[in-house]
Amino acid sequence: MSYQSDDKGYYGEFGGAFIPEMMYPNVHQLQNCYLEIIESDDFRQEFKQLLRDYAGRPSPLYYSDRLSDHYYAKIYLKREDLNHTGSHKINNTIGQILLAKQLGKTRIIAETGAGQHGVATATVCARAGLDCIVYMGALDVARQSPNVEKMKMLGAEVRPVFSGNKTLKDATNEAIRDWINNPVDTHYILGSVVGPHPYPDMVARFQSVISEEIRMQLLEKTGKETPDYVIACVGGGSNAAGAFYHFLDDPTVKLIAVEAAGKGVDSGESAATTQLGRTGVLHGSKSLLMQTPDGQIVEPYSLSAGLDYPGIGPMHANLFVTKRAQFLSATDDEALRAALYLTQKEGIIPALESAHALAALEMIEFKPDDVVVVNVSGRGDKDMEAYLSYYQSTK
Ligand SMILES: *Cc1c(COP(=O)(O)O)cnc(C)c1O
Repeated sequence: MSYQSDDKGYYGEFGGAFIPEMMYPNVHQLQNCYLEIIESDDFRQEFKQLLRDYAGRPSPLYYSDRLSDHYYAKIYLKREDLNHTGSHKINNTIGQILLAKQLGKTRIIAETGAGQHGVATATVCARAGLDCIVYMGALDVARQSPNVEKMKMLGAEVRPVFSGNKTLKDATNEAIRDWINNPVDTHYILGSVVGPHPYPDMVARFQSVISEEIRMQLLEKTGKETPDYVIACVGGGSNAAGAFYHFLDDPTVKLIAVEAAGKGVDSGESAATTQLGRTGVLHGSKSLLMQTPDGQIVEPYSLSAGLDYPGIGPMHANLFVTKRAQFLSATDDEALRAALYLTQKEGIIPALESAHALAALEMIEFKPDDVVVVNVSGRGDKDMEAYLSYYQSTK
């Protein structure tokens, strides 16, 4: 059994392309050409070179002495926080902007939650000289203002979205609507492994550089390419998809996906999709989805804007139902505590999203020889307000 998508974009029963007829031209164009383009030698060479010289890859794999002592295991941190623009999102936007140029597109749209994908998109658009419009929920515009300012300085137009609970799901709806209305000149740079085929597979491939590097770096540091555990947080699931990718078919590697439990899985304010969701269709693909008995989307909640989404990508839905990955969840408070702990023990301020992955270290019983890789998907600059109010409340 393979955990990769088939050629129709299915991961087991999940995935596919459930789209209105007006999106056919755009989506079919991508479906028909994405593999040929991204697997061509020219594309791969340019992609690789930009990842290295522009984004700063490979990102370090850092052995954390102090977390290792504390959790009685060998803990490595994959430092996606050190990438240009501060998270793993740049890997995907570099790939997609190269694709958009090959397709002759002149206008780029994107959705964003925490603003990391918006900033990464605005960044590659500045470099490519392409128009950029970023849809962002009005609540997220308010809680992630440093990233909003950056996008504007980079020349992007940020369009606040006032529907729903004014977060990522709503921004994604608006981006899809824009794409339907502008089918010819516009490419939609989707920021996670969600959406209609080919997005989940395409974004996973661009992010797979994370696990490609982990294998090489572990080999160099430990003499063995595979760890015992890979731990990553899941919003839509792109950093986890990248960190898991080259380990998917090796059952000796335990894959741990961490969702946002918000104020608690049973509090009515959470984003723990696998714990609360059922199969449904959102944003063009079939996956697990938080919904009412009659199929209305339940508004998600997480303090972390990047995890505040009522679904997960189809790859992860399949990893969940096949039990290939174990799904845990961390509350706002558990994530805040984990972020403060890493900051004080290692001098690394992680993104609030990544702090959910770190919180999982508290929940697993390791053996002393276990090699554990935690994907630190981004840095915490954008979250200083939340961190400061938490930090003051603990004093
Ligand atoms: C966007 C974001 C996430 C969540 O998105 P995934 O697609 O699940 O990776 C996690 N961490 C950071 C730092 C982000 O910016």
